[in-house]
Order: sequence, then structure tokens, then C-alpha cells
Amino acid sequence: SIPLSFFGGIGGASKNGILVKGGNFLEALNSVDTVVLDKTGTLTKGFFSVTSITALHGYSEVDVLRLAALAEMHSSHPIALSIKRAYIEPLEAVVSNYEELAGYGVKATIEGKTVLAGNDKLLLEHTITHERLDTPDTVVYVVVEGVLAGYLIIADTPKVDSKQAILALHALGIKDIVMLTGDTKATAEKVALELGITHVEAELLPHQKVEKLEEIMARKSGKGKTVFVGDGINDAPVLARADIGIAMGGVGSDAAIEAADIVIMTDEISKVATALKIAHKTHAIVW
Ligand code: ADP
Ligand code: MG
Repeated sequence: SIPLSFFGGIGGASKNGILVKGGNFLEALNSVDTVVLDKTGTLTKGFFSVTSITALHGYSEVDVLRLAALAEMHSSHPIALSIKRAYIEPLEAVVSNYEELAGYGVKATIEGKTVLAGNDKLLLEHTITHERLDTPDTVVYVVVEGVLAGYLIIADTPKVDSKQAILALHALGIKDIVMLTGDTKATAEKVALELGITHVEAELLPHQKVEKLEEIMARKSGKGKTVFVGDGINDAPVLARADIGIAMGGVGSDAAIEAADIVIMTDEISKVATALKIAHKTHAIVW
């Protein structure tokens, strides 16, 4: 039988906007010593704005923005949404052969031309040489028929409660706090520095996030459990692999919510510490 206080714990969590999918997860939260967090949409707002556009090789800035918006037409990635917000004209063109290249960007045929929009890994993959830009913000390159048409610089900001959330986890005695991201080292390190996170793993492709989590779980000294917190479609396998998966339910993707053991109904990352506190309290009542 399940002790009544488990229900009390789950009820207490739900009053705090935290959905716990079973009493066993609340119990497991008591032995957590490692918290691994995704960056975009989890620690940051996941709401980017386009801060600059650079056009190259005869293209105009409007061309670069329009082609990027068209290429991203069918994507719901936070980067895609920001580009579509920035291009206020109606998106009228024949877009076909759309492909989402997870961890790289997107590819589509626009007005008969192959257009790529994505990061420098995508450029590398297509052997397009370009100096790496020295910016802590996210760069989206736009390539038309193998020619670099230009790039957009887009910026995201940490959530208002992210710094406080990390402090709270430290105060609860969490030994290792790790940030995982597919974004560049420069962007990741800027956010980590701002939030007081010292362990950062960047430039990870979606499948490498799972491998990195497994590495962290295997390498740690303590016997404690590992939590992963994420929001994106790409995070679903990592959420499933962690001892306890926590999804951000506000802007989080359905796949992440489905794969998680615990769902934070708002986008407040500080609720991770709240969940740990409720688990500790529930534990104290049962034992
Ligand atoms: P994170 O791990 O930070 O949540 P993702 O794994 O979703 O990020 O993406 C990693 C990187 O891949 C992004 O920082 C971006 O450079 C690139 N990328 C992914 N999806 C897109 C897209 N739709 N448009 C442009 N770039 C993208
Ligand atoms: Mg994310």
C-alpha cells in the first residue's frame, strides 16, 4: 500500500503547479545529488529576438530575413519563431522539401532553390567555409544553392528566476549542477557565468545529450539520483533516460511533457527546488 502522505506530497506539489506522475518519483527526489538542465527554454526564456542581419554575396538584408523565415516556415523551434516574428510581411512563396535538421537547423526548397538556415555545424556539413563569428549570441546562417547569403544574430535571455533557482539547488545540497546545450560554447558560457553554473557541456547534437547524461550518471562518485530538466522535442530521450525527468510544461513540447516523470506547469525553473523541498517534507512525515 502507498502511505497517505505520498498523496499529501503529490497534492502539495500540484498546489504549487508541479504535476508528479507517481509517488515513487517524489520519493526518488529525496536522493538526488545531480541536476542536469537544458539551456534554451529551460534556463533561458526560449524567446529570441533578431538583433542584427548581415547580407553577403549580392543579397540584401531583407532577402536574408525573408529566406530564413520561409525556410523556417514549418518549424516550431524557438529560433524559427523569432525569425518569423521579425519578418512581418506575409510568407508567400513555394516552399517544398522541408526538413528539420535537429541540432543543425532547417533545409527547404524555396522558389526552386535549396536554402539552408542554421548554425556553423550546418555550414561545416555542407563544406561552406566562413570565419567563426566571435559573438556570445546565436548565429543563424542562410545558404542559397551553396552560397552564403548572410546571417542573422539572435539573442535569448535567462528567465528571471534562473539565478535564484541555481542558488536554491546549491542550498539544498545538490553537488553537481550541469548545463547541457546544442548551442555554441560561447553562448553557453555566457549564460552559465551569469547564472553561476560551472559545469557546462555545449555543442551537443540531440543524441549526444543522452550520451552526455549517461556519462555524467556513470562517472559520479555518489550513489545519488540524477534529475534532467528540459523542454524541447529533442529533450524527450534525455528526460526518459534520467532517473527523474522534469519537463517545463508552459512552453514545453508535448513530447517532453509526455516523456517526463514530473511536469512544471508554469515556466518557473525555481519550481525544481520547490519539488525537492516538497519531497523532503513528505519524506520526513513518512519516516
Ligand atoms: P538547445 O540544446 O539549446 O535547447 P537545440 O538542440 O534545439 O538547442 O538546437 C541546437 C542548435 O541547433 C541551436 O542553437 C541552433 O544553432 C541550431 N538549430 C536548431 N534548430 C534550428 C532551427 N529551426 N533554425 C536554426 N537553427 C536551429
Ligand atoms: Mg530547450
